[in-house]
Amino acid sequence: MQTLRASKYGLSTTLLPSSILDVIDSLTKAGYEAYIVGGGVRDLMLGLAPKDFDAVTNATPAQVKQVFGRRCRIIGRRFELAHVYSGRELIEVATFRAPPKKEVTSASGMILRDNNWGSIEQDFARRDFTINTLYYQPRKGEILDFCHAVDDIKHKRLSLLGDPKQRFEEDPVRMLRTLRFAAKLGFTIDDNILEVIQPDLVQLLRDVSPNRLYDESQKMFTMGHLTQVLPMLIDFGIWKSLFAEVPAQITPFIQLAAKNTDQRISIGKTINPAFFYAVLLWETFLKRCDHYLNKGLVPAEARAQAGLDVLKRQSTRTVIPRFAETFIREVWEMQVRLLNPKPQQIPSLAAHARFRAGFDFLLLRERSGDTTTEGMGQWWEQYQELSSDDKEKWIAQFNRQRIRGRKKANQKTPVVEHFDLDVPLVEEPVKKTRRSRQREQTEQTPAHVASGINADHPILKRRRVQRNLDDVVFGPTQ
Ligand code: ATP
Ligand code: MG
Repeated sequence: MQTLRASKYGLSTTLLPSSILDVIDSLTKAGYEAYIVGGGVRDLMLGLAPKDFDAVTNATPAQVKQVFGRRCRIIGRRFELAHVYSGRELIEVATFRAPPKKEVTSASGMILRDNNWGSIEQDFARRDFTINTLYYQPRKGEILDFCHAVDDIKHKRLSLLGDPKQRFEEDPVRMLRTLRFAAKLGFTIDDNILEVIQPDLVQLLRDVSPNRLYDESQKMFTMGHLTQVLPMLIDFGIWKSLFAEVPAQITPFIQLAAKNTDQRISIGKTINPAFFYAVLLWETFLKRCDHYLNKGLVPAEARAQAGLDVLKRQSTRTVIPRFAETFIREVWEMQVRLLNPKPQQIPSLAAHARFRAGFDFLLLRERSGDTTTEGMGQWWEQYQELSSDDKEKWIAQFNRQRIRGRKKANQKTPVVEHFDLDVPLVEEPVKKTRRSRQREQTEQTPAHVASGINADHPILKRRRVQRNLDDVVFGPTQ
Protein backbone atom coordinates (compact mmCIF):
# COMPACT_ATOMS: atom_id res chain seq x y z
CA MET A 1 0.00 0.00 0.00
CA GLN A 2 1.32 3.46 -0.79
CA THR A 3 0.14 6.73 0.75
CA LEU A 4 -0.02 9.53 -1.78
CA ARG A 5 -0.16 13.24 -1.23
CA ALA A 6 -3.56 14.34 -2.56
CA SER A 7 -2.33 17.78 -3.65
CA LYS A 8 0.20 16.11 -5.96
CA TYR A 9 -2.76 14.71 -7.91
CA GLY A 10 -4.70 17.95 -7.95
CA LEU A 11 -7.10 16.96 -5.16
CA SER A 12 -8.07 19.31 -2.37
CA THR A 13 -11.02 20.07 -0.11
CA THR A 14 -11.91 23.06 -2.26
CA LEU A 15 -13.06 20.65 -4.97
CA LEU A 16 -15.44 18.89 -2.59
CA PRO A 17 -19.03 19.79 -1.82
CA SER A 18 -19.76 20.55 1.84
CA SER A 19 -22.09 17.52 2.04
CA ILE A 20 -19.31 14.93 1.69
CA LEU A 21 -17.00 16.88 4.01
CA ASP A 22 -19.78 17.02 6.58
CA VAL A 23 -20.19 13.23 6.44
CA ILE A 24 -16.45 12.55 6.67
CA ASP A 25 -16.03 15.04 9.53
CA SER A 26 -18.99 13.75 11.56
CA LEU A 27 -17.78 10.15 11.33
CA THR A 28 -14.21 11.13 12.21
CA LYS A 29 -15.41 13.18 15.18
CA ALA A 30 -17.35 10.15 16.42
CA GLY A 31 -14.10 8.19 16.42
CA TYR A 32 -14.45 6.25 13.16
CA GLU A 33 -12.28 6.10 10.08
CA ALA A 34 -13.88 7.66 7.02
CA TYR A 35 -12.77 8.07 3.41
CA ILE A 36 -14.09 9.18 0.08
CA VAL A 37 -13.84 6.25 -2.30
CA GLY A 38 -14.77 5.18 -5.81
CA GLY A 39 -15.88 7.26 -8.76
CA GLY A 40 -15.53 10.62 -7.00
CA VAL A 41 -11.77 10.21 -6.43
CA ARG A 42 -11.24 8.60 -9.84
CA ASP A 43 -13.05 11.37 -11.70
CA LEU A 44 -11.32 14.17 -9.79
CA MET A 45 -7.95 12.66 -10.71
CA LEU A 46 -9.03 12.58 -14.34
CA GLY A 47 -10.12 16.20 -14.18
CA LEU A 48 -13.78 15.25 -14.68
CA ALA A 49 -16.73 16.50 -12.65
CA PRO A 50 -17.75 13.62 -10.37
CA LYS A 51 -21.39 12.56 -10.52
CA ASP A 52 -21.40 12.02 -6.76
CA PHE A 53 -19.16 11.15 -3.85
CA ASP A 54 -19.35 7.88 -1.94
CA ALA A 55 -18.03 7.46 1.58
CA VAL A 56 -16.66 4.37 3.29
CA THR A 57 -16.06 3.82 6.98
CA ASN A 58 -15.28 1.23 9.63
CA ALA A 59 -18.57 2.11 11.39
CA THR A 60 -21.34 -0.45 10.82
CA PRO A 61 -24.59 0.84 9.26
CA ALA A 62 -26.18 0.82 12.73
CA GLN A 63 -23.31 2.93 14.09
CA VAL A 64 -23.61 5.33 11.14
CA LYS A 65 -27.28 5.64 12.03
CA GLN A 66 -26.30 6.52 15.60
CA VAL A 67 -24.01 9.29 14.36
CA PHE A 68 -26.54 10.86 11.96
CA GLY A 69 -29.85 9.97 13.61
CA ARG A 70 -32.85 11.01 11.55
CA ARG A 71 -30.66 12.14 8.68
CA CYS A 72 -29.71 8.50 8.05
CA ARG A 73 -31.62 5.62 6.54
CA ILE A 74 -30.31 2.09 6.21
CA ILE A 75 -31.12 0.56 2.84
CA GLY A 76 -30.45 -2.63 0.84
CA ARG A 77 -30.47 -6.27 1.74
CA ARG A 78 -27.93 -7.86 -0.55
CA PHE A 79 -25.67 -4.88 0.03
CA GLU A 80 -26.57 -2.95 3.16
CA LEU A 81 -25.73 0.76 3.05
CA ALA A 82 -26.43 3.91 5.00
CA HIS A 83 -27.97 6.82 3.14
CA VAL A 84 -27.05 10.07 4.85
CA TYR A 85 -28.82 13.30 3.95
CA SER A 86 -26.60 16.34 4.11
CA GLY A 87 -28.40 19.50 3.13
CA ARG A 88 -30.20 18.65 -0.09
CA GLU A 89 -27.74 15.95 -1.02
CA LEU A 90 -27.62 12.28 -0.33
CA ILE A 91 -24.36 10.53 0.43
CA GLU A 92 -24.01 6.75 0.32
CA VAL A 93 -21.97 5.52 3.27
CA ALA A 94 -20.71 1.94 2.99
CA THR A 95 -19.02 -0.11 5.68
CA PHE A 96 -15.66 -1.86 5.06
CA ARG A 97 -16.50 -5.32 3.75
CA ALA A 98 -14.77 -8.68 4.14
CA PRO A 99 -15.29 -11.55 1.67
CA PRO A 100 -18.78 -13.01 1.97
CA LYS A 101 -19.29 -16.28 3.81
CA LYS A 102 -19.61 -19.36 1.59
CA GLU A 103 -23.27 -20.10 2.18
CA VAL A 104 -24.51 -16.78 0.79
CA THR A 105 -23.55 -17.44 -2.83
CA SER A 106 -25.82 -19.04 -5.45
CA ALA A 107 -25.02 -22.20 -7.43
CA SER A 108 -23.53 -20.06 -10.23
CA GLY A 109 -21.32 -18.24 -7.72
CA MET A 110 -23.41 -15.08 -7.49
CA ILE A 111 -23.11 -13.29 -4.17
CA LEU A 112 -26.55 -13.09 -2.64
CA ARG A 113 -25.53 -11.21 0.46
CA ASP A 114 -22.47 -9.04 0.89
CA ASN A 115 -22.74 -7.73 4.42
CA ASN A 116 -19.73 -9.19 6.13
CA TRP A 117 -17.86 -6.32 7.76
CA GLY A 118 -14.07 -6.26 7.61
CA SER A 119 -10.88 -4.20 7.44
CA ILE A 120 -9.91 -1.56 4.88
CA GLU A 121 -7.55 -4.06 3.19
CA GLN A 122 -10.40 -6.56 2.83
CA ASP A 123 -12.68 -3.79 1.62
CA PHE A 124 -10.19 -2.83 -1.06
CA ALA A 125 -10.10 -6.41 -2.39
CA ARG A 126 -13.91 -6.52 -2.68
CA ARG A 127 -14.05 -3.57 -5.07
CA ASP A 128 -14.32 -4.05 -8.81
CA PHE A 129 -11.79 -2.08 -10.88
CA THR A 130 -8.38 -0.93 -9.71
CA ILE A 131 -9.28 2.64 -10.68
CA ASN A 132 -12.19 2.55 -8.22
CA THR A 133 -10.11 1.60 -5.18
CA LEU A 134 -8.52 4.86 -4.12
CA TYR A 135 -9.33 5.96 -0.54
CA TYR A 136 -9.11 9.71 -0.05
CA GLN A 137 -8.98 11.29 3.43
CA PRO A 138 -9.55 14.96 2.56
CA ARG A 139 -8.68 16.41 5.98
CA LYS A 140 -5.36 14.58 6.07
CA GLY A 141 -4.80 15.33 2.38
CA GLU A 142 -3.90 11.66 1.82
CA ILE A 143 -4.85 9.02 -0.71
CA LEU A 144 -4.36 5.32 0.06
CA ASP A 145 -3.46 3.31 -3.04
CA PHE A 146 -3.36 -0.47 -2.54
CA CYS A 147 -2.65 -1.60 -6.10
CA HIS A 148 -0.94 1.19 -8.07
CA ALA A 149 -4.37 2.35 -9.18
CA VAL A 150 -2.94 5.75 -10.11
CA ASP A 151 -0.86 4.07 -12.83
CA ASP A 152 -3.98 2.52 -14.34
CA ILE A 153 -5.68 5.92 -14.26
CA LYS A 154 -2.66 7.48 -15.91
CA HIS A 155 -2.52 4.81 -18.62
CA LYS A 156 -6.30 4.72 -19.05
CA ARG A 157 -6.53 1.01 -18.26
CA LEU A 158 -9.56 -0.83 -16.98
CA SER A 159 -8.39 -3.79 -14.88
CA LEU A 160 -10.43 -5.89 -12.52
CA LEU A 161 -9.11 -6.96 -9.16
CA GLY A 162 -8.77 -10.75 -9.00
CA ASP A 163 -9.84 -13.35 -11.52
CA PRO A 164 -12.29 -11.71 -14.00
CA LYS A 165 -14.40 -14.85 -14.49
CA GLN A 166 -14.88 -15.28 -10.77
CA ARG A 167 -15.57 -11.58 -10.21
CA PHE A 168 -18.24 -11.60 -12.95
CA GLU A 169 -19.79 -14.77 -11.55
CA GLU A 170 -19.95 -13.14 -8.12
CA ASP A 171 -21.76 -10.17 -9.60
CA PRO A 172 -22.71 -10.21 -13.31
CA VAL A 173 -23.54 -6.48 -13.17
CA ARG A 174 -19.79 -5.89 -13.21
CA MET A 175 -19.90 -6.77 -16.93
CA LEU A 176 -22.20 -3.82 -17.51
CA ARG A 177 -20.00 -1.64 -15.34
CA THR A 178 -17.01 -2.64 -17.48
CA LEU A 179 -18.67 -1.36 -20.63
CA ARG A 180 -20.03 1.72 -18.91
CA PHE A 181 -16.65 2.83 -17.55
CA ALA A 182 -14.84 1.98 -20.80
CA ALA A 183 -17.34 4.09 -22.75
CA LYS A 184 -17.48 6.93 -20.24
CA LEU A 185 -13.78 7.28 -19.56
CA GLY A 186 -12.45 6.13 -22.94
CA PHE A 187 -10.29 3.51 -21.18
CA THR A 188 -9.05 0.29 -22.78
CA ILE A 189 -10.39 -2.91 -21.28
CA ASP A 190 -7.79 -5.47 -20.16
CA ASP A 191 -7.50 -8.49 -22.45
CA ASN A 192 -8.24 -10.93 -19.63
CA ILE A 193 -11.60 -9.21 -19.16
CA LEU A 194 -12.41 -9.20 -22.87
CA GLU A 195 -11.64 -12.91 -23.09
CA VAL A 196 -14.14 -13.93 -20.44
CA ILE A 197 -17.18 -11.86 -21.41
CA GLN A 198 -18.67 -14.75 -23.40
CA PRO A 199 -22.28 -15.95 -23.80
CA ASP A 200 -22.06 -18.33 -20.81
CA LEU A 201 -21.18 -15.45 -18.48
CA VAL A 202 -23.49 -12.95 -20.14
CA GLN A 203 -26.46 -15.21 -19.56
CA LEU A 204 -25.88 -14.88 -15.80
CA LEU A 205 -27.38 -11.40 -16.15
CA ARG A 206 -30.74 -13.16 -16.36
CA ASP A 207 -30.40 -13.99 -12.65
CA VAL A 208 -29.85 -10.37 -11.61
CA SER A 209 -32.84 -8.56 -10.16
CA PRO A 210 -34.68 -6.54 -12.86
CA ASN A 211 -34.74 -3.58 -10.45
CA ARG A 212 -30.98 -3.48 -10.30
CA LEU A 213 -30.73 -3.83 -14.06
CA TYR A 214 -33.10 -0.90 -14.54
CA ASP A 215 -30.86 1.25 -12.31
CA GLU A 216 -27.84 0.18 -14.29
CA SER A 217 -29.57 0.91 -17.60
CA GLN A 218 -30.39 4.40 -16.33
CA LYS A 219 -26.75 5.03 -15.51
CA MET A 220 -25.84 3.92 -19.02
CA PHE A 221 -28.43 6.16 -20.65
CA THR A 222 -27.45 9.23 -18.65
CA MET A 223 -23.65 9.07 -18.50
CA GLY A 224 -23.26 11.20 -21.63
CA HIS A 225 -21.61 8.42 -23.68
CA LEU A 226 -24.57 6.38 -24.79
CA THR A 227 -23.38 6.45 -28.42
CA GLN A 228 -20.19 4.66 -27.43
CA VAL A 229 -21.76 2.06 -25.16
CA LEU A 230 -24.53 0.87 -27.52
CA PRO A 231 -22.28 -0.93 -30.03
CA MET A 232 -20.41 -2.49 -27.10
CA LEU A 233 -23.64 -3.91 -25.73
CA ILE A 234 -24.30 -5.52 -29.11
CA ASP A 235 -20.75 -6.81 -29.59
CA PHE A 236 -20.71 -8.48 -26.20
CA GLY A 237 -24.19 -9.97 -26.65
CA ILE A 238 -25.49 -8.05 -23.63
CA TRP A 239 -28.04 -6.04 -25.61
CA LYS A 240 -30.46 -8.95 -25.95
CA SER A 241 -30.29 -10.01 -22.34
CA LEU A 242 -31.00 -6.48 -21.16
CA PHE A 243 -33.77 -5.47 -23.52
CA ALA A 244 -36.55 -7.82 -24.49
CA GLU A 245 -37.55 -7.78 -28.14
CA VAL A 246 -35.74 -4.63 -29.24
CA PRO A 247 -34.38 -4.46 -32.83
CA ALA A 248 -31.38 -6.78 -33.18
CA GLN A 249 -29.23 -3.92 -34.44
CA ILE A 250 -28.99 -0.26 -33.64
CA THR A 251 -31.50 1.37 -35.98
CA PRO A 252 -30.89 4.90 -37.33
CA PHE A 253 -33.63 6.13 -34.95
CA ILE A 254 -31.93 4.58 -31.88
CA GLN A 255 -28.57 5.88 -33.05
CA LEU A 256 -29.85 9.42 -33.51
CA ALA A 257 -31.70 9.39 -30.18
CA ALA A 258 -28.51 8.24 -28.43
CA LYS A 259 -26.52 11.03 -30.05
CA ASN A 260 -29.18 13.54 -29.11
CA THR A 261 -29.21 12.30 -25.49
CA ASP A 262 -25.43 12.70 -25.22
CA GLN A 263 -25.57 16.17 -26.74
CA ARG A 264 -28.27 17.29 -24.32
CA ILE A 265 -26.18 16.07 -21.39
CA SER A 266 -23.06 17.80 -22.67
CA ILE A 267 -24.84 21.16 -22.71
CA GLY A 268 -26.42 20.60 -19.30
CA LYS A 269 -29.98 20.01 -20.51
CA THR A 270 -32.18 17.67 -18.53
CA ILE A 271 -33.14 14.30 -19.92
CA ASN A 272 -35.77 11.85 -18.91
CA PRO A 273 -34.12 8.41 -19.01
CA ALA A 274 -37.50 6.84 -19.81
CA PHE A 275 -37.41 8.68 -23.14
CA PHE A 276 -34.69 6.37 -24.40
CA TYR A 277 -36.75 3.35 -23.37
CA ALA A 278 -39.58 4.80 -25.48
CA VAL A 279 -37.14 4.94 -28.41
CA LEU A 280 -35.79 1.41 -27.89
CA LEU A 281 -39.21 -0.18 -27.68
CA TRP A 282 -40.92 1.88 -30.40
CA GLU A 283 -40.58 -0.66 -33.22
CA THR A 284 -41.78 -3.49 -31.01
CA PHE A 285 -44.72 -1.34 -29.95
CA LEU A 286 -45.70 -0.68 -33.60
CA LYS A 287 -45.56 -4.39 -34.42
CA ARG A 288 -47.69 -5.20 -31.42
CA CYS A 289 -50.20 -2.51 -32.47
CA ASP A 290 -50.49 -4.18 -35.89
CA HIS A 291 -51.09 -7.47 -34.18
CA TYR A 292 -54.07 -6.07 -32.28
CA LEU A 293 -55.39 -4.15 -35.29
CA ASN A 294 -55.37 -7.37 -37.29
CA LYS A 295 -57.34 -8.93 -34.49
CA GLY A 296 -59.99 -6.27 -35.06
CA LEU A 297 -59.37 -3.90 -32.14
CA VAL A 298 -60.04 -0.20 -32.75
CA PRO A 299 -56.79 1.83 -33.04
CA ALA A 300 -56.94 3.45 -29.59
CA GLU A 301 -57.49 0.12 -27.91
CA ALA A 302 -54.81 -1.56 -30.00
CA ARG A 303 -52.31 1.09 -28.89
CA ALA A 304 -53.30 0.81 -25.25
CA GLN A 305 -52.98 -2.96 -25.25
CA ALA A 306 -49.77 -2.95 -27.26
CA GLY A 307 -48.20 -0.41 -24.90
CA LEU A 308 -49.04 -2.44 -21.85
CA ASP A 309 -47.82 -5.68 -23.45
CA VAL A 310 -44.48 -4.30 -24.58
CA LEU A 311 -43.70 -2.72 -21.22
CA LYS A 312 -44.77 -5.78 -19.29
CA ARG A 313 -42.45 -7.91 -21.37
CA GLN A 314 -39.56 -5.48 -20.88
CA SER A 315 -40.12 -5.48 -17.14
CA THR A 316 -39.07 -9.13 -17.02
CA ARG A 317 -35.56 -7.79 -17.77
CA THR A 318 -35.52 -4.31 -16.29
CA VAL A 319 -38.40 -3.22 -14.08
CA ILE A 320 -39.56 0.11 -15.40
CA PRO A 321 -41.17 2.14 -12.60
CA ARG A 322 -44.84 2.98 -13.00
CA PHE A 323 -44.28 6.73 -13.58
CA ALA A 324 -41.76 5.95 -16.33
CA GLU A 325 -44.17 3.48 -17.94
CA THR A 326 -46.85 6.14 -18.09
CA PHE A 327 -44.40 8.62 -19.58
CA ILE A 328 -43.38 6.14 -22.30
CA ARG A 329 -46.97 5.32 -23.25
CA GLU A 330 -47.83 9.02 -23.32
CA VAL A 331 -44.94 9.78 -25.67
CA TRP A 332 -46.14 7.00 -27.98
CA GLU A 333 -49.73 8.22 -27.80
CA MET A 334 -48.61 11.74 -28.63
CA GLN A 335 -47.26 10.48 -31.96
CA VAL A 336 -50.76 9.89 -33.28
CA ARG A 337 -52.04 13.24 -32.05
CA LEU A 338 -49.14 15.18 -33.52
CA LEU A 339 -49.42 13.42 -36.85
CA ASN A 340 -53.02 14.28 -37.51
CA PRO A 341 -54.04 17.19 -35.31
CA LYS A 342 -57.45 18.78 -35.52
CA PRO A 343 -56.75 22.42 -36.49
CA GLN A 344 -58.76 23.83 -33.58
CA GLN A 345 -56.84 21.67 -31.12
CA ILE A 346 -53.37 22.64 -32.29
CA PRO A 347 -52.73 25.44 -29.72
CA SER A 348 -53.81 23.31 -26.76
CA LEU A 349 -51.85 20.35 -28.07
CA ALA A 350 -48.72 22.53 -28.17
CA ALA A 351 -49.37 23.52 -24.55
CA HIS A 352 -49.83 19.93 -23.38
CA ALA A 353 -47.49 18.66 -20.65
CA ARG A 354 -46.29 15.82 -22.86
CA PHE A 355 -45.97 17.92 -26.02
CA ARG A 356 -42.25 18.57 -25.72
CA ALA A 357 -41.28 14.92 -25.28
CA GLY A 358 -43.73 13.81 -27.96
CA PHE A 359 -42.46 16.41 -30.40
CA ASP A 360 -38.78 15.57 -29.76
CA PHE A 361 -39.61 11.94 -30.38
CA LEU A 362 -41.45 12.74 -33.62
CA LEU A 363 -38.61 14.92 -34.88
CA LEU A 364 -36.03 12.24 -34.14
CA ARG A 365 -38.13 9.70 -36.03
CA GLU A 366 -38.35 12.05 -38.97
CA ARG A 367 -34.70 13.04 -38.99
CA SER A 368 -33.65 9.41 -38.88
CA GLY A 369 -35.54 8.75 -42.10
CA ASP A 370 -38.98 7.66 -40.92
CA THR A 371 -41.27 8.92 -43.69
CA THR A 372 -44.45 7.89 -41.88
CA THR A 373 -44.24 11.15 -39.92
CA GLU A 374 -45.29 12.88 -43.17
CA GLY A 375 -43.11 15.89 -42.42
CA MET A 376 -45.09 16.76 -39.31
CA GLY A 377 -41.96 16.92 -37.15
CA GLN A 378 -40.71 19.84 -39.21
CA TRP A 379 -44.21 21.32 -39.31
CA TRP A 380 -44.40 21.45 -35.50
CA GLU A 381 -40.86 22.74 -35.30
CA GLN A 382 -41.74 25.70 -37.49
CA TYR A 383 -45.05 26.24 -35.71
CA GLN A 384 -43.32 26.79 -32.38
CA GLU A 385 -41.10 29.50 -33.76
CA LEU A 386 -43.96 31.67 -35.03
CA SER A 387 -45.65 34.65 -33.38
CA SER A 388 -49.26 34.11 -32.26
CA ASP A 389 -50.62 35.89 -35.37
CA ASP A 390 -48.51 33.83 -37.68
CA LYS A 391 -49.50 30.69 -35.81
CA GLU A 392 -53.12 31.31 -36.75
CA LYS A 393 -52.19 31.75 -40.41
CA TRP A 394 -50.03 28.65 -40.26
CA ILE A 395 -52.91 26.61 -38.87
CA ALA A 396 -55.33 27.97 -41.52
CA GLN A 397 -52.84 27.07 -44.22
CA PHE A 398 -52.45 23.60 -42.71
CA ASN A 399 -56.21 23.16 -42.79
CA ARG A 400 -56.47 24.24 -46.44
CA GLN A 401 -53.67 21.89 -47.45
CA ARG A 402 -55.31 19.05 -45.62
CA ILE A 403 -58.61 19.55 -47.44
CA ARG A 404 -56.86 20.00 -50.80
CA GLY A 405 -54.80 16.88 -50.18
CA ARG A 406 -57.93 14.88 -49.57
CA LYS A 407 -59.68 16.22 -52.66
CA LYS A 408 -56.66 15.45 -54.80
CA ALA A 409 -56.59 11.91 -53.55
CA ASN A 410 -60.31 11.87 -54.21
CA GLN A 411 -60.93 10.68 -50.71
CA LYS A 412 -63.81 11.21 -48.45
CA THR A 413 -62.95 12.58 -45.03
CA PRO A 414 -60.90 9.80 -43.48
CA VAL A 415 -62.02 8.36 -40.21
CA VAL A 416 -60.13 10.59 -37.84
CA GLU A 417 -59.91 9.51 -34.24
CA HIS A 418 -61.54 11.92 -31.88
CA PHE A 419 -59.25 13.08 -29.12
CA ASP A 420 -60.39 14.88 -26.05
CA LEU A 421 -57.42 16.84 -24.75
CA ASP A 422 -58.94 17.25 -21.31
CA VAL A 423 -58.64 13.56 -20.50
CA PRO A 424 -55.32 11.87 -19.69
CA LEU A 425 -53.38 10.62 -22.69
CA VAL A 426 -53.23 7.08 -21.39
CA GLU A 427 -55.23 5.22 -18.83
CA GLU A 428 -53.27 3.74 -15.98
CA PRO A 429 -53.84 0.02 -15.61
CA VAL A 430 -55.84 -0.68 -12.48
CA LYS A 431 -53.61 -2.18 -9.88
CA LYS A 432 -55.31 -5.19 -8.40
CA THR A 433 -55.12 -5.53 -4.65
CA ARG A 434 -55.46 -8.87 -2.96
CA ARG A 435 -58.89 -7.81 -1.71
CA SER A 436 -60.15 -6.83 -5.19
CA ARG A 437 -58.86 -10.10 -6.61
CA GLN A 438 -60.68 -12.02 -3.88
CA ARG A 439 -63.82 -10.05 -4.59
CA GLU A 440 -63.49 -10.85 -8.27
CA GLN A 441 -63.10 -14.52 -7.50
CA THR A 442 -66.29 -14.64 -5.49
CA GLU A 443 -68.25 -12.57 -7.99
CA GLN A 444 -70.32 -14.34 -10.56
CA THR A 445 -68.73 -14.72 -13.95
CA PRO A 446 -70.71 -15.51 -17.13
CA ALA A 447 -69.34 -19.05 -16.90
CA HIS A 448 -70.77 -19.41 -13.42
CA VAL A 449 -74.11 -18.11 -14.53
CA ALA A 450 -74.16 -20.51 -17.45
CA SER A 451 -73.37 -23.44 -15.20
CA GLY A 452 -76.13 -22.45 -12.82
CA ILE A 453 -73.85 -21.53 -9.90
CA ASN A 454 -75.13 -18.52 -8.02
CA ALA A 455 -73.27 -16.11 -5.73
CA ASP A 456 -73.93 -17.99 -2.51
CA HIS A 457 -72.89 -21.35 -3.92
CA PRO A 458 -70.33 -22.92 -1.53
CA ILE A 459 -67.80 -23.41 -4.34
CA LEU A 460 -67.43 -19.64 -4.64
CA LYS A 461 -66.86 -19.25 -0.91
CA ARG A 462 -64.17 -21.88 -0.80
CA ARG A 463 -60.98 -20.66 0.80
CA ARG A 464 -57.48 -21.74 -0.05
CA VAL A 465 -56.27 -24.11 2.65
CA GLN A 466 -52.68 -24.11 3.73
CA ARG A 467 -51.64 -27.77 3.77
CA ASN A 468 -48.88 -29.05 5.94
CA LEU A 469 -46.92 -31.29 3.61
CA ASP A 470 -45.25 -33.07 6.56
CA ASP A 471 -48.58 -34.76 7.27
CA VAL A 472 -49.04 -35.98 3.72
CA VAL A 473 -47.91 -39.49 2.95
CA PHE A 474 -46.56 -39.68 -0.58
CA GLY A 475 -47.13 -43.07 -2.11
CA PRO A 476 -47.43 -44.68 -5.50
CA THR A 477 -50.05 -42.94 -7.59
CA GLN A 478 -51.72 -46.12 -8.86
P1 ATP B 1 -20.14 6.39 -10.86
O1 ATP B 1 -20.77 6.78 -9.54
O2 ATP B 1 -19.41 7.45 -11.55
O3 ATP B 1 -21.07 5.65 -11.73
P2 ATP B 1 -18.58 4.69 -9.14
O4 ATP B 1 -17.29 3.97 -9.40
O5 ATP B 1 -18.60 5.70 -8.05
O6 ATP B 1 -19.02 5.30 -10.53
P3 ATP B 1 -20.72 3.45 -7.70
O7 ATP B 1 -21.76 2.52 -8.23
O8 ATP B 1 -21.12 4.77 -7.19
O9 ATP B 1 -19.67 3.59 -8.89
O10 ATP B 1 -19.92 2.64 -6.61
C1 ATP B 1 -18.95 3.21 -5.74
C2 ATP B 1 -17.78 2.29 -5.58
O11 ATP B 1 -18.23 1.06 -5.00
C3 ATP B 1 -17.11 1.87 -6.88
O12 ATP B 1 -16.15 2.80 -7.28
C4 ATP B 1 -16.48 0.56 -6.51
O13 ATP B 1 -15.30 0.72 -5.79
C5 ATP B 1 -17.52 -0.04 -5.58
N1 ATP B 1 -18.49 -0.88 -6.33
C6 ATP B 1 -19.67 -0.47 -6.84
N2 ATP B 1 -20.31 -1.48 -7.43
C7 ATP B 1 -19.53 -2.55 -7.30
C8 ATP B 1 -19.64 -3.92 -7.69
N3 ATP B 1 -20.70 -4.36 -8.36
N4 ATP B 1 -18.63 -4.74 -7.36
C9 ATP B 1 -17.55 -4.32 -6.67
N5 ATP B 1 -17.39 -3.05 -6.28
C10 ATP B 1 -18.35 -2.17 -6.58
MG1 MG C 1 -20.35 6.79 -7.35
